[in-house]
Amino acid sequence: MKDLLDRLRKAGVHSLLAQFTDLAGVAKGKLVPLAHLDELLAHGVGFAGPSIVGTGLPRVGPRSEYYARGNASTATVLPWMPGVARIVCDGFVDDQPFEACPRQLLKRAAAHLAERGWQLRTGIEPEFFLLRRDGERWLPADADDRLDKPSYDLKALARQGEYLHALHGVLAQCGLDVLQLDHEDAHGQYEVNFGFDDALASADHLMLFKLAAHALAEARGLQFSMMPKPFANQAGSGMHMHVSLWGGGSARHPDHARNLFTPHRADGSADLEATLSPLGRQFLAGVLAHGAALTALAAPTVNSYKRLRGGTTLSGTTWSPVWLAHGPNNRTAAVRTLHGRFEWRVPDSAANPYLATAALIAAGLDGIDRRLELPAESLDDLYELPTAELQARGHARLPASLGAALDALQADDVIRTALGDALVEQFVRLKREEIDAYDTQISGWELQRYAAAF
Ligand code: GLU
Ligand code: MG
Repeated sequence: MKDLLDRLRKAGVHSLLAQFTDLAGVAKGKLVPLAHLDELLAHGVGFAGPSIVGTGLPRVGPRSEYYARGNASTATVLPWMPGVARIVCDGFVDDQPFEACPRQLLKRAAAHLAERGWQLRTGIEPEFFLLRRDGERWLPADADDRLDKPSYDLKALARQGEYLHALHGVLAQCGLDVLQLDHEDAHGQYEVNFGFDDALASADHLMLFKLAAHALAEARGLQFSMMPKPFANQAGSGMHMHVSLWGGGSARHPDHARNLFTPHRADGSADLEATLSPLGRQFLAGVLAHGAALTALAAPTVNSYKRLRGGTTLSGTTWSPVWLAHGPNNRTAAVRTLHGRFEWRVPDSAANPYLATAALIAAGLDGIDRRLELPAESLDDLYELPTAELQARGHARLPASLGAALDALQADDVIRTALGDALVEQFVRLKREEIDAYDTQISGWELQRYAAAF
């Protein structure tokens, strides 16, 4: 504590940003003067519980107060907020870990893995849009970003170079290992990749990325957007997760951990031709078996399901999954397998990374505990196969709507139990309200189609 206080003082920090993530995946918090660091770490700072999205906490009584309790190891000086350091907080209510806190949930899931000597590591790949507003319309910020196939376009990348370099710079100063920045497959769409890490750390990094990306965009008159599918005729934004399970290290020697998903030959050498070890195959079988319920957490908005569809886009392809299938380096399936890891392609940019990862762990552990058999891999371009053929191969379609995904979540005892009834109840309530709000809108499309039609 004393060391941390000294370090932050020396860095010119006067305030702490006590930050937590609400059920909807949005960063929330408050500023706390540095002098109150000890209180933030030991006890937490208080918030009106019912004012936070998705807590379901009452307006009065001891459970009305939500405490955000800081984790000292997460203290990071924020280059874009001079004098401020972010501390990632966990939710506490009545001095107990709050059952509907997404980060507490992921901590519990990681603890289940740790009981077996395991650690999940994830690499989260956010895709996002840079937009501008024109009256009621949202447009790509860069009006010259107009190629039909804009993936990897260096001219558009250069036009947003100042923003992207600034973003890279602050993330690097915060300790993230930024690997790549590129233009994605839609107008105004970009992707930033940073190094994979412990699953909790990766989720914390993703939230830091969002804080930075929003702040830097606003300062430049841009709208940073994690909306999954802003443009009907173009690709949406995924937030793919690269997943591996590690074990064999120790608290003193975490570096000794090995990737348990790496496949080996009988003689003990790495099998470079295969993708996943037997343990990895079981874990992935669990992820596919619970794939429909996981989708509720990974694709949590009504808009998400406009991304998870087949069909063409201006660039030719959505690159988003439709079928619960897997295949080596197959980007047309829900899961792309690679050597020693898999890429879960269902999550979109609106997913709460803590919830999605916690649910993924529960699904994977169930696959391991029940020694589930991994369905046959898909080598084909699934966008090309007729639906009847995909069904004949035993692939299930991802839920077609948020409502269907929530039904699957509520029907899935394993995932529901792992998330806990309190959290599931709040999540489902929040999301059914969202569906209801959406369903009561009359869209421009409806007026165009029906107003003069009958
Ligand atoms: N934007 C695509 C998606 O919605 C993914 C593109 C890619 O493979 O990077 O999932
Ligand atoms: Mg991408």
